[in-house]
Amino acid sequence: MNSYPENFKKLIESLEKLPSIGRKSAIRLAYFLAFEDKFSAINLAHNIEECVQDLQVCEECFGVSDSYICDICNDDSRNNGELCIVANAKDIFLLEDSGEFSGKYFVISDIKDTNIKQLEIKITNNNIKEIIFALTPSLGSDGIMLFLEDKLSHLGITFSKIAQGIPTGVSLENVDQLSLIRSLQARIKV
Ligand SMILES: [Zn+2]
Repeated sequence: MNSYPENFKKLIESLEKLPSIGRKSAIRLAYFLAFEDKFSAINLAHNIEECVQDLQVCEECFGVSDSYICDICNDDSRNNGELCIVANAKDIFLLEDSGEFSGKYFVISDIKDTNIKQLEIKITNNNIKEIIFALTPSLGSDGIMLFLEDKLSHLGITFSKIAQGIPTGVSLENVDQLSLIRSLQARIKV
């Protein structure tokens, strides 16, 4: 890369640090931004700067927000008694895009007492009746679910988790053993 113009080299290095961007993609993107679509490049830089400055963690659900409390937490029409627990704030976007969930969320990034206290407050204040765990299937997730069910059992709520099994369009030979076992356990009548 010594023969590259200094700023172009820096741009490639920045892009290479992004998730799922390899060296070839970084060069292609850098060239596109620097030469082929300068307007998009300036716009992108501006949008990144605004997001970095404006976005924060919602104080109530720990999701992504542009204010102290996020729009979902503030939306009374979503008080349907359901609370979806996710492990990462960005999972909320995936669930929102699916359009299948209309309750509230809570991000449980790590199991600390302070976080559980806030989860209890969220459950009480929002009159939550059902907790839905939307966690990536793993033994660690099973541990988190058992732990939370135990900690929250006194609140008289029900617990469920998203179904697991064989993803659509994936052949059985490419499915890991845990998913295969879970899909058998969660089989349904046809
Ligand atoms: Zn929120």
